[in-house]
Amino acid sequence: MEPGLYSDARGLWSFAGGAGMLPAEVLAELGPALASRRAKGRLSALELPFGTAAFRDLQDEAEADLRALLGLPPRYHVLFLQGGATAHFWFVPMNLAGLSGHAAYLETGLWSRRAIAAARAVAEIRIATEPAGLADARGAAYCHLTPNETADGACLPALPALDPAVPIVADMTADLLTAPIEVERFGLIYASAQKNLGTAGLTLVIVRDDLLGQALPGTPAPFNYALQAREHSRVNTPPVAAIRVAASLFKWLRRQGGLAAMERRRARRSATLYTLIDSSGIYSCPIKAAWRSPVNVCFRLPSPELEAQFLDAAERRGLLHLKGHPAVGGIRISLYNGVPDAAVEALADFMAEFARPRAGGASP
Ligand SMILES: *Cc1c(COP(=O)(O)O)cnc(C)c1O
Repeated sequence: MEPGLYSDARGLWSFAGGAGMLPAEVLAELGPALASRRAKGRLSALELPFGTAAFRDLQDEAEADLRALLGLPPRYHVLFLQGGATAHFWFVPMNLAGLSGHAAYLETGLWSRRAIAAARAVAEIRIATEPAGLADARGAAYCHLTPNETADGACLPALPALDPAVPIVADMTADLLTAPIEVERFGLIYASAQKNLGTAGLTLVIVRDDLLGQALPGTPAPFNYALQAREHSRVNTPPVAAIRVAASLFKWLRRQGGLAAMERRRARRSATLYTLIDSSGIYSCPIKAAWRSPVNVCFRLPSPELEAQFLDAAERRGLLHLKGHPAVGGIRISLYNGVPDAAVEALADFMAEFARPRAGGASP
């Protein structure tokens, strides 16, 4: 099979909210790594028992590359878990709420609302609807943020000013590894892998050492962060193949120039699209400039009929999965790490072409 055939040789591009595309080079390398037994006598990553030295080497290498990408200090543990960010909406409070009686959550869109709904079943939650509202989070076990709201196309312009004693917990499923972060400002970061870190099945939890050991009784062992930290994420069988995919992607990110290069790329690509949207006379983005996500660009057309026509015409060009989140509607362009520049250029050309004959009559 021709490497890269799916991802770009035929111009078949996915802008899905998740799972996202993988870089063509990563796919080409994974073919043999996942599917065939190597001459060296290694098992494929699909068959690799997790008790082997080969798996431990793979996990150690993935962790070392991730630490290098993020500049992660030793007092942060990297846990390779399962469940998806959604399961951790419950497991985060189960692990951390024991630190104090309550937790503060910032509500910014669909995913933070889901995190709040889950956490309510576990702990006492106080909700702020804007960053300034977190000023009185004093005494909270933690403050939960969703820095990038994938479904709404919004991002937090900056981390809120908080009592330094309150650890920040962030669901970074859509934006981890798309830009450098000030790791030291976070107590815990979690992210499903299928957007920017590889493929579904792996959920990364990065947690500061002093926050461990407070889990509520009854926290399931595979999701007890202190236990998993002690057992090197091998309390039970880890998602071996998904870790293999992440390992390749981390190496690819380092070859691209790391997170600073990814941040420049996401800024350039999202700016092209937002400029096009604002000047088109037919597309409109409801998010105010400072809050616009550089990862998920969401916009509307003047009518549901035009949105359907847009999606249909895009699909015929090989520009796939542009429909907005079902709970939000409209159009969404997800610009994850694996989406090549050629895809974004093809999409921008298509959007300009689609707008041109329709802009006059459709603009307000
Ligand atoms: C996609 C997404 C989720 C859900 O991830 P699952 O792996 O489906 O649980 C949660 N939070 C954010 C910010 C997301 O983008």
